[in-house]
Amino acid sequence: MTRVVIALGANLGDRGSTLRAAARAIAALPGVRPIASSSEVESVAVTLDGPDAAKPRYRNAVVVVDTDLEPDELLDALHGIEDEHGRTRTVRWGDRTLDLDVIAVDDRHIDTATLTVPHPRAHERAFVLAPWADADPDAVLPGRGPIVALLAALGDDTERVDEPRLFDAIAPAAGAAS
Ligand code: ADP
Ligand code: MG
Repeated sequence: MTRVVIALGANLGDRGSTLRAAARAIAALPGVRPIASSSEVESVAVTLDGPDAAKPRYRNAVVVVDTDLEPDELLDALHGIEDEHGRTRTVRWGDRTLDLDVIAVDDRHIDTATLTVPHPRAHERAFVLAPWADADPDAVLPGRGPIVALLAALGDDTERVDEPRLFDAIAPAAGAAS
């Protein structure tokens, strides 16, 4: 059993509904047990050229799960959930209805053609660290340190959205841990 941190992001469509539906789909995956989740934050879109205030803003959140899936199996399942939400893969860091990134898998370091864990940019992204700290304030990013310290050093430019934590919106029958 491994503990996995997953970051969710969306900047097109009904972003909040998409994040909540994605959290529900993650919690319902076979071999996945929901542990903790954040509420949503909003921030300016970042492209390969830097922050772009003209682009639709992002909604982001983080969920923490326990799973007996292998990391590559989980990534495949996450890609399936992205596809169900109309994700198309064109421009890297381009606009998207749903992006699901694996941030950490226990304190493992993974570097394959399809998966780099811990996520190489998590430590410099307030939109990952802030919701992760909301879900699990004591978390440590392997190789980098406590996430609240990383967030304090970086500065939190996210705005909290007044919505329940993602897993709190799931009825127990829909797959929450018993
Ligand atoms: P980005 O999230 O950087 O905008 P994509 O979501 O389009 O880019 O992902 C591109 C590829 O990144 C995926 O096909 C996946 O194989 C790879 N990848 C590598 N490490 C990770 C990770 N930790 N989480 C999610 N995808 C990853
Ligand atoms: Mg991604």
